[in-house]
Amino acid sequence: MKSLNSFQRFMNRRASANCRYQPTCYEHAANFYTHALLIVPAFVGMTLLHCLSDNRWERITAWVYGMGLCALFLVSTVFHIITWKKSHMRSVEHCFHMCDRVVIYFFIAASYSPWLNLRELGPLAAHMRWFVWLMAAAGTVYKKFYFFTSPLNTDGLHEVACGGLIYCLGVFFFKSDGIIPFAHAIWHVFVALAAAVHYHAIWKYLYNAPSSDTLLNP
Ligand SMILES: [Zn+2]
Repeated sequence: MKSLNSFQRFMNRRASANCRYQPTCYEHAANFYTHALLIVPAFVGMTLLHCLSDNRWERITAWVYGMGLCALFLVSTVFHIITWKKSHMRSVEHCFHMCDRVVIYFFIAASYSPWLNLRELGPLAAHMRWFVWLMAAAGTVYKKFYFFTSPLNTDGLHEVACGGLIYCLGVFFFKSDGIIPFAHAIWHVFVALAAAVHYHAIWKYLYNAPSSDTLLNP
């Protein structure tokens, strides 16, 4: 019983309908650090892809993807430090809360961009390249992006699907504030894992491959 009580202090009661969950100070700290520590690696990752680029199109794609990756961790970190330390700044907090939710859609679109820009996936991909951004703008759920599997070159798409699956599993924790201690921080870890799987696949198959089949040459 005592151990259950000491476990409980890491978590507050589940929020009632229309109320936001109030994390404990432990959870605030975990929410902050799980993404703050990934800002620098995200910048390093972006720079690495930039350096590996063989042409202008690869460089642009490295920046688009890299900016999405950095924005995800940066916006999330700023939002969580504000809710933790400056929660009295209601309007600023509200604004960053919205940005934190929206940035993930743009990040997902950015994650698909390297595959759509740098891999010959047939005529559908040419449309998908812009369509993913429209979808992100509309805040649509990313599961719909999975229909571009092509008979041409599917190396790496398993990793993309795997990353998508990790996001989906993470949503369980995203919805578990007040049920599981540190649920939101665990969600952050899932986001980071999925991002790492995607990054590894993009680095391995699109930038580090001996001959990357680009669509456009400089
Ligand atoms: Zn968060």
